Amino acid sequence: MLLSINQNDLVLMLRHIEEKTGRSQSGTRLAPRQAQIDSGTGLSTDSDLVSVIDALGYQPDTFSIPNYVDHLRHALNREIDLVAIPFSESLSGAYVHAHEQDFIFYNMGKHPLIQNHTVVHESAHIVLKHQGYRVRGANLPDELAALLKNMVGHCRTRNAIGVEEQEAEQFANLLLSRIRQHSFRRYLVKTTNTNLFPPFDQL
Ligand SMILES: [Zn+2]
Repeated sequence: MLLSINQNDLVLMLRHIEEKTGRSQSGTRLAPRQAQIDSGTGLSTDSDLVSVIDALGYQPDTFSIPNYVDHLRHALNREIDLVAIPFSESLSGAYVHAHEQDFIFYNMGKHPLIQNHTVVHESAHIVLKHQGYRVRGANLPDELAALLKNMVGHCRTRNAIGVEEQEAEQFANLLLSRIRQHSFRRYLVKTTNTNLFPPFDQL
């Protein structure tokens, strides 16, 4: 499958990868990546994904984007570069694997809740060892198209389709609902002994 993305968005990502690794993308070689759960026979079930999330050992009550990604770096023993980018409105985020390194890009112009969802979604591609798609830009000049030759990635756009995209969404929904439950529980604990009449306590 091919992904088509806005040329400016692509240039922003390529420029970052080049700066970070000191290399252009033309020599990128990607190790073949195997799907961890199920080998292409369809979507994982919720309970498969819940076990994967459990195995990560992440404490949902400490969630923030940097904290979560830092946990993944240690738990998966991978270099993950987390990059906020002023992408165009149509792109929420992307995951790219290049030069043995993982890059999670997210659109810094989106609402913080969308940024959270995007980063957890993109991280799912790493955790679930998704194979990714070849990345292509629409109407790219030849030299840019050449840079992309061996690059594989995922993009989060409004109309993303495919088993890996659905699975990443499922993973993000499960993990984020766990995080929301914890913050609600924390709120309940905090409010147990709260004044019900003014002056109200600061929560
Ligand atoms: Zn995705």
